[in-house]
Amino acid sequence: MSLEQNIAQFEKLLAQKPARLVAISKTHPTALIEQAYQAGQRIFGENKAQEISEKYEVLPKDIEWHFIGTLQSNKVKYIAPFIKMIHSVDRPKILKEINKRAAQNNRVIDCLIQIHIAQEDTKSGFSYEEATEFLTSGQLRQYQNVRICGFMGMATNTEDEAQIRQEFRTLSRFKSEMQAKVKADNIALNELSMGMSGDYSIALEEGSTFIRVGSAIFGSRSY
Ligand SMILES: *Cc1c(COP(=O)(O)O)cnc(C)c1O
Repeated sequence: MSLEQNIAQFEKLLAQKPARLVAISKTHPTALIEQAYQAGQRIFGENKAQEISEKYEVLPKDIEWHFIGTLQSNKVKYIAPFIKMIHSVDRPKILKEINKRAAQNNRVIDCLIQIHIAQEDTKSGFSYEEATEFLTSGQLRQYQNVRICGFMGMATNTEDEAQIRQEFRTLSRFKSEMQAKVKADNIALNELSMGMSGDYSIALEEGSTFIRVGSAIFGSRSY
């Protein structure tokens, strides 16, 4: 199927749902993003600060850019002027830097807390305990230039759909629990970023509000 057909299919799939599609365009040339843009796609996600900044510079300014990768402190300044949402806040320290750079740009940056939900050490993120402590301690009140919008999780890379579903379901329940528990003017835990090309259907059934889909839209990546 063509890129246009892929995007149309996702539009149809999400039409009756609260979830939105983040088209993961990492490694792909700007011409391909332009093509997806022409087909109506407006939210794109990337995992490298330099790559996303270069693409932001040359592509239409009404694109909503989302960051999904491990973010080094010294790279936050490059994306702070334009980034709409950072899905991958995976440690407390990085939020301080995001807040500082957002303030310098007179912006508020939407952030998701990444939770380590997979049974793989290669993936990063807070444990549920760490996230609970972080959100309930009151320390986030000092960061008025970030808004904590919810959580992101990547399921284990496995054929076992029951396991994937269980990991997504646990995260979804955690979101509901924290929603009821945490009250602050810069925290509104409504979003749940879960689901990639291989598991977005399960993620949607379990309450995802952002699916992050790359290869199912653009085809496979060559690094
Ligand atoms: C690359 C990536 C995706 C998209 O992966 P696909 O399997 O190509 O859909 C989603 N989320 C994160 C964090 C990624 O790094």
